[in-house]
Formats: sequence, C-alpha cells, structure tokens
Amino acid sequence: MLKAKSCVSDSEQTSLERTKGILADLVGFDTTSHKSNLALIEYVSSYLMQHGVTSTLLMDETGKKANLIAAIGPTDRPGVVLSGHTDVVPALETGWQTGPFELDERNGRLYGRGSCDMKGFLACVLAMVPEFVEAQIRRPVWICLSHDEEVGCLGAPAIAAWLAQREEPPFLAIIGEPTEMKLVTGQKGKIAMRCTVHGTSGHSSFAPKHVNAVDFGARIVSLIAERADRFRQEGPFDPDFTVPHSTMLVTMIQGGVATNITPERCSFTFEIRSLPRHDARAELTGIMSEVAGRLVPEMQAMHPDTGVVWEEMFSYPAMGDGTDSMGFLLFKDLMPDWSGKVSYGSEGGVFEQVGGIPSVIVGPGSIAQAHKPDEFVKVTQLEACLGFLRDIAGRLQHSN
Ligand SMILES: [Zn+2]
Repeated sequence: MLKAKSCVSDSEQTSLERTKGILADLVGFDTTSHKSNLALIEYVSSYLMQHGVTSTLLMDETGKKANLIAAIGPTDRPGVVLSGHTDVVPALETGWQTGPFELDERNGRLYGRGSCDMKGFLACVLAMVPEFVEAQIRRPVWICLSHDEEVGCLGAPAIAAWLAQREEPPFLAIIGEPTEMKLVTGQKGKIAMRCTVHGTSGHSSFAPKHVNAVDFGARIVSLIAERADRFRQEGPFDPDFTVPHSTMLVTMIQGGVATNITPERCSFTFEIRSLPRHDARAELTGIMSEVAGRLVPEMQAMHPDTGVVWEEMFSYPAMGDGTDSMGFLLFKDLMPDWSGKVSYGSEGGVFEQVGGIPSVIVGPGSIAQAHKPDEFVKVTQLEACLGFLRDIAGRLQHSN
C-alpha cells in the first residue's frame, strides 16, 4: 500500500512521488457519486492553503457536496482551467485484487477506484501546484474540481457559470478525462429520457376493450428506432467521431404483470447522443409531437384516462471544436497528438455551453480501464501528464 505523503511540503520529493502520494490520499476518500465529497474537498482546500492558494467552494443544495475553484496567478487576465471531477463510479464489482479505495502499485500501474477516472489527473494538477506558484505565471491557472460528474455532470454547470461571471473569464478549459494523454477536440452531448405509457388493464380475453400500454409503448419505440436510423443514413456527419453520426436507442423497458392481463403501464428509457451541431432537443420534440398528434388521440378515443408522460432524466451538452480559439492557439504547439473526438461524456460541453469557455480533453490513463474492477493508471501516464502541465506552466510564465 502506498503511504499518504502529500501534506508534507518536502521540496526534495520529486513531482512524481508527490503525485503518487496525493493520488493515494485521493483514492482513499470513497467519493462514489451518491456519497458526500466534502472530506476530499477539505483535504484539497487545506493542501492548497499550505501553498498559499485560497479556494472557493460552491455547495450543492444538500450541503453534502461541493465544487472547488482555486486560481493561481493574476486573475485580471484570461487563463486556463484544469478541470476534473471528484466523484467515482461504485466499486461493487467482484474482481478487485486489492481494496478499491486503497491505492496499490504493481508493475508500473497504480490500482484503485478513480485512479484513472479521474483522480490521476487531479493528483498531477495538485502535485504541480508548488511549481505553478513558484513560476510566477502571468496568466492564471484555474483549478476546478466538480461533484457528480458520473451521474450527469451535475456539479460542473455551477463552476462554469461562476467562471463566466469573472471580469476576465478563462479562455481555455483542459478536461483531464482519461485520453492516454492524447488530444480530444470534441464530444457528443447526451439526453437520457424516460417515457411512461399509461393504458388500461383487464382480463386479456377482452383485449379490444383495453388500451394496451405495451402495444403503444412498442409503437413509440419503433418511432425512436426509425428516427435513429435516419441519423445513420442522412446524418449530420462528423468523420472525426468513431461513430460519425448521432445515435439514439432504447436502453431499458418494463411493462405488464401477467400473461393474461392487458398491460396498464409500460415504461422505457432511451438516450440520444448528439453531434455538437445536431439539435437533439428538436429531435425529441419531433418524436413527442408525433406521439401527441397520432398515438395519444388513438389511446384517448378508447379511454380518456390514458396518455404518455415524458421525463428528462439528465443531460449534458456536446463539446464543439475549440481549436481555432485564442486560448487553444496559445498552447497549440504544446498539445499532445490528436486522437479525434469521443462519444462518451465529459464536462467540456458544460464549460463551453454554460461558461462560453472553449474546451479540450487531455488526461492520463485509458478509458478502457475506467469503470471496471482493478481500475488502474500507468505511472508513465502520470509522468507524461506532469510533463504536459509543466509545459503549460512554462507557457503561462512567459505569455503576454
Ligand atoms: Zn470521468
């Protein structure tokens, strides 16, 4: 087991040792999304304080979770956000060789829940704090830690809105999600929905007298599938994405209680993952009005107390290409190799849409190791990340 050593301001410690120590501490906090992250936030805030950096905490409405924002350097000029989420997905899977909340180093890999997604990046950023402070950078670094990313980017909008209100908001956000230290310049948005069909039930031998919720649910599912097929055939397209068009699909479905009862209720969830310039809300509105105009009248003609209810479960916006922005151009030559655009979520879209801050994703570790038992980040990835952050610090030091 690695021992926590981050609270020691030992200048002899190399930045990599410091990173490992901080990562051990961060992994030690069980910040599974449904739990409080305050102990971790307090730890980070007191670590920053030891280096003379003050933090702003933005509490959520329950008071059990917080975002943290801290600036190093002069805030009267645009600077760069280094952003990561503090929460992790549950570690309930079997298959962990060591405790998920105890960082363990084996064969050049650091194992633990969140080591890759994405406390590894946070540890690198925090380990670099003394260097950012010493460098007397001329543009600020904004360290931003959010809560509840894994359950729908719930914390980040408050951070983005807060930053947007600064006199000189940041002009670039680097989101440290695991990309194996490659540059990712776009991300699909997502809306997750639940649809519930309310019909009427009775003995199935009298089926024509009932409004069969599963039947109507299936017809709505077909509408969704047909529209999804249209995305595949007609676009819009962006070849930089592995799946170069928006996708939409039903993910869970329930309905009915017995083989001889007409089902009264059918409910299903579905998601749309949309390209940055594809209006996902307009697509949803299209489906809903088709249902309201055609299927619901059919149901209500048979029985007035029937209908369809739509609920949005969560959503986050897509992240467009910010590579022609002033902020990106300042660091362009320092950026690692480009690896394309991704279909999984990150807070980049939130920074861009809510805060007006162009965003890119660059972080240590591989998404293939995230959300799995024996999650790990390679030590070489942390080294690469420290090198990247050191280059950023150098550029900020000499930037006009
Ligand atoms: Zn993540």
